[in-house]
Amino acid sequence: ESLDQGLSKTKESVFKKLGRAIVGKSKVDDEVLDNLEEVLITSDVGVDTTLKIIRRIEERVSKDKYFGVDELNTLLKEEIAALLDENNTNDEADFELPSSDMPYVIMVVGVNGVGKTTTIGKLAYNFKKNGKKVVLGAADTFRAAAIDQLQIWAERVDVPLVKQSMGADPASVAYDTLASAKATGADVAIIDTAGRLHNKINLMNELSKIKNVMQKIVPDAPHEVLLILDGSTGQNAFEQAKQFTKATEVSALALTKLDGTAKGGVVIGISDQFKIPVKYIGIGEKMEDLQVFRRKEFVESLFS
Ligand code: GDP
Repeated sequence: ESLDQGLSKTKESVFKKLGRAIVGKSKVDDEVLDNLEEVLITSDVGVDTTLKIIRRIEERVSKDKYFGVDELNTLLKEEIAALLDENNTNDEADFELPSSDMPYVIMVVGVNGVGKTTTIGKLAYNFKKNGKKVVLGAADTFRAAAIDQLQIWAERVDVPLVKQSMGADPASVAYDTLASAKATGADVAIIDTAGRLHNKINLMNELSKIKNVMQKIVPDAPHEVLLILDGSTGQNAFEQAKQFTKATEVSALALTKLDGTAKGGVVIGISDQFKIPVKYIGIGEKMEDLQVFRRKEFVESLFS
């Protein structure tokens, strides 16, 4: 899907609501701002980020008494773009990897059902398409289905998967994966992990053990800890981001299922609240339906 199609539900919804918020109004008054606040909150931008945006708009409106509702759209777009600029820099790179680190190690975290396996498969597809040699590691050994699903993706994309049986030590699988990556000259190793949030101490211990063991082979691994969040779950995604950032150092976010939701505002809120760049967005179930997050394109698409 194209970005425009992928975000169509969000676009339609935000604009219908935004239209309703200003209908019959000639200037931006408190009522318009209240309505706008509601539009942003119901689009899952999050309360804190919404208030920040409203305050900024208020400030600009107060400086210009001729400010009309027609300009509100433009202003909103500018403020959202500015917010995204604060935490995201990844505008150019298209599934590129730093050439200095080899293998580049991506540890993928997130709870079950958010699209973790799918995103790993899509990443493998894109890196491979760019001529990179990819290895996957099935270190979510907690569920047999997790290993099987990853196997299916590995076959679909035609990349090797390192796995052990269900219940095996995740750190041992991660170790094997990096050993294999190193031995075969892979450019990137993507390691799946189990996301059992209900047991936070276990999760913390497991992730730090995986990291420590990986560093025996690649001293600065993982280069990236990618948290996958289901963009259609709104406040749950915020809550998961909170929990995972407490459990480990998350360096990048992937927001999935934006095609299925009218609440794409979650991208804006999450990146603002957690100060972690959104690196990828999922806009469909197929291999091709993962995009590198480009803030300018995202805002343009939202407001086009
Ligand atoms: P995991 O349990 O986190 O590994 O989740 P899966 O990768 O198995 O994904 C769960 C479901 O979400 C599957 O049916 C996927 O096809 C679907 N899915 C994942 N990413 C996306 C996306 O970006 N858009 C849509 N529409 N579905 C997605």
